[in-house]
Amino acid sequence: MANKYSKTKLEKFKKAISDKMGAVSEDIESIKEGIGNASNKQGGVTPDSIFSVHMADAGTDSHEQEKNFMLMNRESDYFKNLNIALERIEEGSFGVCKICGNLIPEERMMEVPNATKCVQCKEKEKLGLA
Ligand SMILES: [Zn+2]
Repeated sequence: MANKYSKTKLEKFKKAISDKMGAVSEDIESIKEGIGNASNKQGGVTPDSIFSVHMADAGTDSHEQEKNFMLMNRESDYFKNLNIALERIEEGSFGVCKICGNLIPEERMMEVPNATKCVQCKEKEKLGLA
């Protein structure tokens, strides 16, 4: 296989991906905290205070909660994808288009580390030509 990133490049990718994973897991932690706080707030509503809770505020809370869960799903998907990218580095398929076998440009791999197709093949696939 001629089309492959060099070891040095792969190390660079590995570091970038690990950094991202660190940032994403911090994000996940803070989202979790947000969800926890929101539930605490709800759990802390006593019969006395329940009448002082504005209905609009309660609505906002559950909306926030929903948003947090969505955000967390997205972040954990991203985390999984980064993990897959790391596995690909280990097995040597990282950055190689699985359709045409060409090297996927470095900028794209930095942006989408779990990409398995080059832009051209992806476009073709979208058009139903691949
Ligand atoms: Zn391709």
